[in-house]
Amino acid sequence: MASRVNREVRLAARPNGFPKDSDFDVAETPVPEPDDGEVLVRNVYMSVDPYMRGRMNDTKSYAPSFRVGETMQGGAVGQVVKSRSNVLAEGDWVNSMMGWREYYTADGSSLMKIDPALAPVSKALGVLGLTGWTAYVGLLDLGQPKDGETVFVSAASGAVGSIVGQIAKLKGCRVVGSAGSAEKIARAREVGYDEAFNYKEESPAVALDRLCPDGIDVCFENVGGDHLEAALPRMRTFGRVILCGLISQYNATRMPPGPSLVPALANRLTIRGFIVSDHFDRLPDFLRDMGGWIRDGLIKDEETVVEGIENAPRAFMGLLRGENRGKMLVKIGPDSPLDG
Ligand code: NDP
Repeated sequence: MASRVNREVRLAARPNGFPKDSDFDVAETPVPEPDDGEVLVRNVYMSVDPYMRGRMNDTKSYAPSFRVGETMQGGAVGQVVKSRSNVLAEGDWVNSMMGWREYYTADGSSLMKIDPALAPVSKALGVLGLTGWTAYVGLLDLGQPKDGETVFVSAASGAVGSIVGQIAKLKGCRVVGSAGSAEKIARAREVGYDEAFNYKEESPAVALDRLCPDGIDVCFENVGGDHLEAALPRMRTFGRVILCGLISQYNATRMPPGPSLVPALANRLTIRGFIVSDHFDRLPDFLRDMGGWIRDGLIKDEETVVEGIENAPRAFMGLLRGENRGKMLVKIGPDSPLDG
């Protein structure tokens, strides 16, 4: 094993508004030893996700708050470098929620094994992981898109949004998206969006009048704020609004005034909030379908990879600023920890 030191990122202070470097602390600890039944894992990739911003606050939500001084958590893939478990062997690759650290020990039976022969291991944190699963369940199960319908997706070139758009195209929909730069608009079109607009140059209300003159059947909302305010009154009768995320509000110190829900009533809309972890029953279907779509070249994904655990806070803040193209990951270990 190359290193006897483990580095991990802890919450140093609760952010007030947008996080800053001093809200994080990189600590060094000894690499732990596995007990009976446990494995030692060297993480290689970790995910940074918008929902982690909520966990840095001291407010009640669907995911518990990080305590100040605590090592942060999140999705990670790594390789077993020492095993005292009957279910996992040295060299196995696993997916866990033990990100933001280089090494950890865990009960072998608590980890999800992944097959590196099926796809590069990083995909288990993106298109074949929480990101793709969120897009799949949110759009197909809750959005119920039908051939010929119009789907609007905010944060269209992001990790979830780019997959939502591509699945909607596979279902025969016309897909319109928003993103924050010309480069991201081009990327959205490249993966199949029919139309996309830059919300920093054209307001969502003006753009949706131009691009969805007959209204919206499914709104897949990743942003909220002015995007949701613009989409709601443009929903067609019996439309479906899927509240996946509200990233425009995650760093707000005071909540902005909300949109009127009158159109939701008048048009008999279904507005569904969802958390992907309520939908484990759909995980096998998602893996089967998404694996097939990727093999057949029907779904493409993109990754932005920042190197080094010490840069994980920077990657996370960059994600909140929109510096990512596709899924934002941090590479925190060598390609093959066991060989290193
Ligand atoms: P993305 O890859 O989409 O990255 C976030 C993007 O949001 C940024 O790249 C940026 O793109 C955009 N953004 C940031 N701030 C703003 C703003 N103020 N207004 C408009 N856009 C903004 O992240 P994910 O794909 O991981 O997540 C997308 C959404 O899905 C998030 O809201 C997240 O919370 C949610 N989510 C929900 C889940 C669930 O179970 N419900 C599970 C996973 C994710 P740009 O440059 O275009 O502004």
